[in-house]
Amino acid sequence: KPRVFSGIQPTADSFHLGNYLGALREWVTMQDTADAFYCVVDLHAITVAQDPDELRRRTRVSAAQLLALGIDPERSTLFVQSHVPEHAQLSWVLECLTGFGEAGRMTQFKDKSARQEAEHVGVGLFTYPILQAADILLYQTDAVPVGEDQRQHLELTRNLAQRFNSRFGPTFALPTAHIPKDTAKIQDLQDPTAKMSKSVPAGVVELMESPKRSAKKIRSAVTDLEKEIRYDVENKAGISNLLVIYSALTGRSIAELEAAYEGKGYGDLKKDLGEVVVDFVTPFQEQVQGYLDDVAELDKVLRKGAEHAREVGAATLRTVFDRIGFLAPT
Ligand code: ATP
Ligand code: MG
Repeated sequence: KPRVFSGIQPTADSFHLGNYLGALREWVTMQDTADAFYCVVDLHAITVAQDPDELRRRTRVSAAQLLALGIDPERSTLFVQSHVPEHAQLSWVLECLTGFGEAGRMTQFKDKSARQEAEHVGVGLFTYPILQAADILLYQTDAVPVGEDQRQHLELTRNLAQRFNSRFGPTFALPTAHIPKDTAKIQDLQDPTAKMSKSVPAGVVELMESPKRSAKKIRSAVTDLEKEIRYDVENKAGISNLLVIYSALTGRSIAELEAAYEGKGYGDLKKDLGEVVVDFVTPFQEQVQGYLDDVAELDKVLRKGAEHAREVGAATLRTVFDRIGFLAPT
C-alpha cells in the first residue's frame, strides 16, 4: 500500500469549505487505498501567536472534525504533531540542508509575513515549509493530499529529500503532491481572486458556524454585473467559484449546473447552494459534537495514533541520525 501523509492546522474554531474540498475530502477517500497518516499540526499553528487554552481546545475540535468527516482511526493513523517529537528533530536536520535563499522564495511566507507587522514575523513562519518537509519525509510518504497552495512546499520537500539521499545515501521516499483537479483552490466569497483561508476570515464558509450564517455568506458572495450563470474564471471569478463549490458538493457537473440555471438569476443559484451547504454541515456538526462530548475517548484515539506514528517516525529518524554521523547513544 502506498503511504499517505497530510496535516491541518488547529488555528481556527472550524475548518472551511476550502480545506474540505481541497484536501480533507481526499484524505477520507485515500484511506481506502493507502496506509494514511493524518496529523493536526499544532507545531505549525504556533508560527503565529496562539492563546494556549484556545490552541488546546482547537486541537481537539480539529480532531473531532476529522473524525466526523470520516477519518477512521481503525484504518488510518490520526494524531497530534507535538505528540511525536521526531517531527521537530528531523526538521532541524533538514533546516541545516536548506539554503537561506531557497527558503526565502516560498510565496506563502511572503504572503503571510506581509500581513503582519515586521517585528511580529517569527523565524518559525520562515522555516515552516522545512518543518512541513520533515512531517512528510518522516513517514516515507508517497503521496500528500493538499490544496494548490501547497504545491511549492511539496517541491521543496522533494528537493530536500533528493539532496539528503544523494549526499548521505537513499533514505527518504520521494513524495508527490496529490492535488485535486477541480477543487484545488476554493476562493474567498468576498474576494474571489484570493484563496479562502482560515487566517483571513472575510468570505470564509466555516463548517462549524451556524448553517444560517453560511447560507447568508453565500447569498452575499461577491459576483459581477452580468446576469448569466456561466463558468469563466477570468471574467466571472465569483460565479465560477460558486459553481465549483456547488458541483463538488452535489456531484453535478458544472455544465449540468449551467444548463439547469439558464435563464435564472444569481439569487436563485445562491439560495440553492446555501441549502446544499446547510444540508451538508448540519449532520456534520452533530457528529462533531458527539466526538467532543467524549473527550476521554477522543484523547485515547489521539494517543494510540501518536504511539503508532512514533514507531514509524522514530525508525526513519534513527537512520537519518546514523547517516549524518551522529554517534548512537549507548
Ligand atoms: P492558514 O490560512 O492559517 O494557512 P488554511 O485555511 O490555509 O489556514 P491549512 O491548515 O494551512 O489551512 O491547510 C490545510 C489544507 O487545506 C492544506 O492541504 C491546504 O492546501 C488546504 N487548503 C487551504 N485553503 C484552501 C483553499 N482555499 N482551497 C483548497 N484547498 C485549501
Ligand atoms: Mg494554509
